[in-house]
Amino acid sequence: MTKINMSSPDLTDAERQAVANVLDTPILSMGQYVKDFEQAFCDRTGAKHAIAVNSGTAGLHLCVRAAGIGAGDLVITTPFSFVASSNVMLFENAVPVFVDIDPRTGNIDPELIKDAVENVEKYLPRKGAKADAPIKAILPVDVFGQPADMDPIMAIAKEHDLTVIEDSCEALGAEYKSRPAGMLGDFGVFAFYPNKQITTGEGGLVITDNDEYADYMRALRNQGRAPGDTWLQHTYLGYNYRLDEMSSALGAVQISRLDELLDKREQVAGWYEERLSEIQGVETQIVESFTTRMSWFVYVVRFDASIDRDALAQKLIARGIPVRPYFAPIHLQPYMVERFGYRRGDFPVTEDLGNRSLALPFSGVMSEEAVNQVCHIIAETIR
Ligand SMILES: *Cc1c(COP(=O)(O)O)cnc(C)c1O
Repeated sequence: MTKINMSSPDLTDAERQAVANVLDTPILSMGQYVKDFEQAFCDRTGAKHAIAVNSGTAGLHLCVRAAGIGAGDLVITTPFSFVASSNVMLFENAVPVFVDIDPRTGNIDPELIKDAVENVEKYLPRKGAKADAPIKAILPVDVFGQPADMDPIMAIAKEHDLTVIEDSCEALGAEYKSRPAGMLGDFGVFAFYPNKQITTGEGGLVITDNDEYADYMRALRNQGRAPGDTWLQHTYLGYNYRLDEMSSALGAVQISRLDELLDKREQVAGWYEERLSEIQGVETQIVESFTTRMSWFVYVVRFDASIDRDALAQKLIARGIPVRPYFAPIHLQPYMVERFGYRRGDFPVTEDLGNRSLALPFSGVMSEEAVNQVCHIIAETIR
């Protein structure tokens, strides 16, 4: 039996050499490698600006600051995501206003966004928000590597003059109606933790076409130093969100291999799809027709309500198959409950998917044999 990991980075000698090359120079931060990495993103996506940072969360936080989202402001977003997409509002004492998701894709439901923009009082949390606070932005998430349905979202945003921050941290390389994920809103954010489609160890990046936002975010990531500031001059309250040269060099090789990496992930997803479709009670990911390219991030299945997901997960783990419930709804995290008074039942579609979903071991370097083994054990355990 081969050892099966939840996820694995896909690294070659080119990445190892690129990092070693940086170590032969005295410049380990704020050098040419980060500029080259950013340029590769502009080339790939067509964005005017790319701002590399040291995590996806940092990238999302810079977008919140650049969009002028502050204390008490409302931002419409999804509770079916990784916590970072909502936490960045809390960093500024702004309020995430959750709306439920499309049960097919797990992405935020544009119809509900429209209703929330027009009747926000119906969607405010029980506490922690003011009824007359302004709605500033929409923050959709491209869940599991599939873009949110962005055309209707952008139409609502345009009508009501709202900023859109697209959390594409799970969807690098995905395409919506042949347009790249991350380019569909005012900002797009990517992340490079080792389980993502490309990795820099830790890292993230923001793309935008807006010159002013880009300058401001570059200043904020570098301790608030505006263009022309000296090392000890700080025009703004900023952060150290810089990405170092080793990570940037690694990332530049990874992004140059993106199509290869995505093709391998797609092949593994295809093996899963084929094997799992034969097992009763297991539903695989729906890919919508507007998703002209899926960028497989995780491989998440849903079990029929008749199957005890948690008991199944425990049995799989006991047999050496790492699996993870995915996502745990954000509104039910303890600090969210305490701050906003959310309760079970508030977002039924999110909770239902949260209860029935399981992420299986997945990466581009996973062998067909390993996929067979996982599927075989799932079938056996369900029986
Ligand atoms: C990975 C991820 C992020 C960013 O994660 P970091 O660990 O901060 O790089 C943000 N949002 C979503 C939906 C993610 O999956």
